[in-house]
Amino acid sequence: MTQNAVGVEFTQRLAENPKSAEERAAILANPGFGDYFTDHTAVVDWTVDAEGKGGWHNARIEPYGPIAMDPAAAVLHYGQEIFEGLKAYRHADGSVWTFRPEANAHRFNRSAQRLALPELPPEVFVESLRQLVSVDKDWVPSGDGEALYLRPFMIATEAFLGVRPAREVSYRVIASPAGNYFGGELKPVSIWLSEHYARAGHGGTGEAKCGGNYAASLAAQLEAEANGCKQVLFLDPTNDNAVEELGGMNIFFVFTDGRLVTPALNGNILHGVTRDSVLQLAQDRGLTVEERKITIDEWRQSLADGSLAEVFACGTAAVITPIGELKTADGSLASPAIGSDSVAMAIREQLLGIQTGAIEDLHGWLTRLA
Ligand SMILES: *Cc1c(COP(=O)(O)O)cnc(C)c1O
Repeated sequence: MTQNAVGVEFTQRLAENPKSAEERAAILANPGFGDYFTDHTAVVDWTVDAEGKGGWHNARIEPYGPIAMDPAAAVLHYGQEIFEGLKAYRHADGSVWTFRPEANAHRFNRSAQRLALPELPPEVFVESLRQLVSVDKDWVPSGDGEALYLRPFMIATEAFLGVRPAREVSYRVIASPAGNYFGGELKPVSIWLSEHYARAGHGGTGEAKCGGNYAASLAAQLEAEANGCKQVLFLDPTNDNAVEELGGMNIFFVFTDGRLVTPALNGNILHGVTRDSVLQLAQDRGLTVEERKITIDEWRQSLADGSLAEVFACGTAAVITPIGELKTADGSLASPAIGSDSVAMAIREQLLGIQTGAIEDLHGWLTRLA
């Protein structure tokens, strides 16, 4: 294939020993999250030629399996890596669709710029998803709240220990059947306020979707678990303790007067596709939407004076999850209970309805994959 080709050709080498229908059925009966992978993977290579010009080539579907890599590969030392996450949903007629993949492709390229990786033509990004889902279509679950989670990523594979952008890069997509992210029924989660660790700083990589951000969140995550919480809330400690986001989800506040507030994208916060979709659906419902700074003090104050109605987190993996409680080193802020008539639940149902084809897709958010 050639760079920027719209009609990019993927070659296919199919797995000789794919999982049997029985094995697959057993996995799909209880998929969990991120524990099992489909039989194939999509791969596209990028190299720099003798003239110093980079290009994408050798787009292919191959059997899922270990990646042979030189121990000096740059990604293993300096973390030159980015990723994406989106889902493929099975509709009632058996067709398979994904949600706003162009938005993920665009964000992937912004992450690539920040990590000095090559940009991937968005049509190659979308085609790679289509190719992978076409061969692994039987892996797309059809149960309530289930989907095939798609994980595109890009890694620096060039073997050298100098510090500079790699000249050999690999783009890949793997897929994993997914049930409910937090397991079981939808219950409000407790989150831990990280006061020692920030996940991002001004000018850093906070709005890039890169593995390093997650590595940097793990110590805080351990602290959260030690305190009985499933997720961490990160602040901007240099800005009045402004709320930023969770380790892998954006955060929203609903006030009793009908305002929906989420922290403004300040360079540290991941541009969530779910976040953007929630803002749109809230506006469609006539809610007043505010993207602005919101501090821990305002959170505490609005709880105390009764003006805060709901707190929830959102992201592709967990969709929308109510936050029941914010635990801190010196006490806890319990959120009001989120009922079935809440904004969080209404938007959750609407979003899931659009994604699964049960509700009309008025914004043109769906793309058919298979
Ligand atoms: C991926 C991610 C999100 C959610 O983004 P979606 O596009 O809604 O899935 C939020 N925060 C972080 C840090 C993320 O990596």
